[in-house]
Amino acid sequence: MIIEQKIKGFICITAHPAGCEKNVADAALYLAQNEKIDIPGIKNVLVVGASAGYGLASALAASFALGASVIGVALEKDAQPDRGRTATAGMYNLAAYKKEADRQNKTLDIIIGDAFAAETKEKVCKIAGGKIDMLIYSVAAPSRTDPETGVKYSSVLKPQNREYNSKGIDLTSYKLNDMSIAPATEEEIAGTVKVMGGEDLALWVDVLTVNGLLKEDAIVISYSYIGPPVTREIYYNGSVGAAKRHLKSTSDSLNKLYKIKSYVSVNKALVTQSSAAIPVLPLYISILFKVMKEKGLHENCIQQIYRLFKKLQAGENLTDENGYIRLDDFEMRPDVQAEVAVRWDQITDGNMGELADLEGFRKDFLAIFGFGLDGVNYGADVNTDAGKFYC
Ligand code: NAD
Repeated sequence: MIIEQKIKGFICITAHPAGCEKNVADAALYLAQNEKIDIPGIKNVLVVGASAGYGLASALAASFALGASVIGVALEKDAQPDRGRTATAGMYNLAAYKKEADRQNKTLDIIIGDAFAAETKEKVCKIAGGKIDMLIYSVAAPSRTDPETGVKYSSVLKPQNREYNSKGIDLTSYKLNDMSIAPATEEEIAGTVKVMGGEDLALWVDVLTVNGLLKEDAIVISYSYIGPPVTREIYYNGSVGAAKRHLKSTSDSLNKLYKIKSYVSVNKALVTQSSAAIPVLPLYISILFKVMKEKGLHENCIQQIYRLFKKLQAGENLTDENGYIRLDDFEMRPDVQAEVAVRWDQITDGNMGELADLEGFRKDFLAIFGFGLDGVNYGADVNTDAGKFYC
């Protein structure tokens, strides 16, 4: 099948296996070109949400920078050739990752399943050969079914308490638009906390501990975002922010309940399937990228996670005064944010090319799905079947 990009709003409903393989190869090459990392005692790593964005970068860095054995969990879909559907990008990413891990003789087990379900956790416990010394939790999901009650909760991207009005970008026309989002209801906020808060992270730690599979002093890392004033009302003070604060307080309480070192790492805003869906972030990211690239400060997912692992290796001054690991330090630098704020006020359709890196955003957005990459023959007939590399 010859695969073409089919964009619907903030998602592309097709994915290109060769393009996804190229993304994984580029990340693996970056790791090969940088020195290996040794975080004492870390040999077996479990990554939940391992197929895309920060989770995929974490798994790749665990395999190829740390040389650890990795178990990766993700929820992805196979191709349906009879319906003309490709597999999801995450499925192709994982197929390419498995191929690269085999080539480099690294142990990698992939489980395709719902991280929130008890049966997925049991599956991980069954295949875990030794004790897990690092758990990285990088799930970004629209909904979650509570494994106890069977009730399905949805997460929403809305402000709390009052209506949010802002400019943004229409991802179809790439023109500025105005958005107005009504505040989340109490029920929507509670649902978002259920999905994106810390409850499932705590369940993973609990299941692994009960099964004797979490090493004493294991490192547990989950990811968060804080961001600047222009995104604050929709993100950090919004429904997702409520979930992220719950994630942090859960992580803090896990440190008291278990003999582990649980951290929340605040990462930089980057283009991923999840962030493209957050109102305002595409415009903010486009301006931010332009400013950070001009200042030579831009990083992508693999560079961010490599820096995280370097920090863990160094082991000193790991957290800020609130106990967060900060990988957003360059993004939040006062000079960067001052410039972003000026451009945010000045931006129009006419000067967008000058003030923002719309091209970079668009390129990164297409690349998530394996499109627009140099060296990939998009005219070639490709096999959409990712193969049976997972359990
Ligand atoms: P992403 O969309 O690129 O990846 C999400 C991952 O979650 C995928 O591997 C997907 O398969 C997995 N997933 C979703 N539902 C699942 C389920 N039910 N079971 C198993 N796996 C499931 O997202 P991302 O942007 O890399 O986000 C990962 C984490 O990083 C999130 O906690 C997010 O808040 C955080 N973060 C993201 C950014 C950003 O700008 N993208 C910035 C800071 C922090």
